[in-house]
Amino acid sequence: MTHKIVAYKMLPPDVEAYLREHAEVLNVDPRDEATFIEALKEANGAIGASIRITPAMIEGAKNLKALSTISVGFDQFDVEDLTRRGIILTHTPDVLTESTADTVFALILASARRVVELAEWVKQGNWNASIGEAQFGVDVQGKTLGIVGLGRIGGAVARRAALGFRMNVLYTNRSPNEQAEKEYGAKRVELDELLAQSDFVCLQVPLTPETHGLIGANELKKMKRSAILINASRGPTVDEAALIEALKNGTIRGAGLDVFEQEPLPADSPLLAMNNVVALPHIGSATHETRHAMARNAAENLVGALDGTLTQNIVNREVLKR
Ligand code: NAP
Repeated sequence: MTHKIVAYKMLPPDVEAYLREHAEVLNVDPRDEATFIEALKEANGAIGASIRITPAMIEGAKNLKALSTISVGFDQFDVEDLTRRGIILTHTPDVLTESTADTVFALILASARRVVELAEWVKQGNWNASIGEAQFGVDVQGKTLGIVGLGRIGGAVARRAALGFRMNVLYTNRSPNEQAEKEYGAKRVELDELLAQSDFVCLQVPLTPETHGLIGANELKKMKRSAILINASRGPTVDEAALIEALKNGTIRGAGLDVFEQEPLPADSPLLAMNNVVALPHIGSATHETRHAMARNAAENLVGALDGTLTQNIVNREVLKR
């Protein structure tokens, strides 16, 4: 029997064509939630990203066998609930690692060297004489980078930092990352030590109940006053109100942020008025090449999951044992 797939995000034409070779594909705009829920009721699989899929939304979806998210993060899903229902969840690790690490490094450099702020300053016609200390930034090379969550992306950031910028790398993880220790001299420390010693604190943990609000007022106080916080993980890993206070009070020097508690970032967010904040619109993996590779990978994951041939990129492997 032909698989029925709901695509709830626009796919590149060649990826959609690939899916159509293997399944009937119905394109649905998930903002029309009622239509989306109805479509899921008929579907064997669904592919998309950027929206929360709650247990209530799939309650009547009796034929649903697999969900494929076009992302590595899967905090938009209730994984335990999917496992109970016997629904496979697949994601797209690896293909986005390098471009996301580039975004992290862009934030590090832009924050330290005030690239965005000073580019705006030039455009506003303020460059009327040689620049002075008022326009100086701080060095990146040779400094200490603390990576909270040194996995795939954290590892690619550590490589850039250690080999490209001769930085010292500290990290926290629940288990050691031996490759990063060996190849990049990364040193595993407790979070408090990482916060106290790092010039740049970079979050790359998944969003889970344990990492929700991981960096709050207490943690920000433990950072150096000269330090910069970089967040390209998920907004809620940082207590945004506490961060805003810390930036206002000079508790830390600045922040480079790709993710926020609420996205899109509300126009009245105090972060937008701060010169010491670089705010990006969640562009971690957003290059033409990487987004295409992610869509292709997610499509292959879905077809493999529905055919029963998929062996990797499965979030809840337990389902396969049932
Ligand atoms: P990963 O390889 O699974 O790395 C996550 C790291 O965090 C691991 O080293 C893990 O080590 C550590 N970790 C997990 N839970 C932890 C906890 N409770 N406390 C401390 N450390 C914990 O994932 P990845 O591919 O690097 O992606 C990481 C995250 O980046 C994704 O989940 C996603 O949210 C985010 N991301 C954002 C963008 C963007 O557009 N800004 C793009 C891609 C990904 P242990 O298991 O040993 O603790």
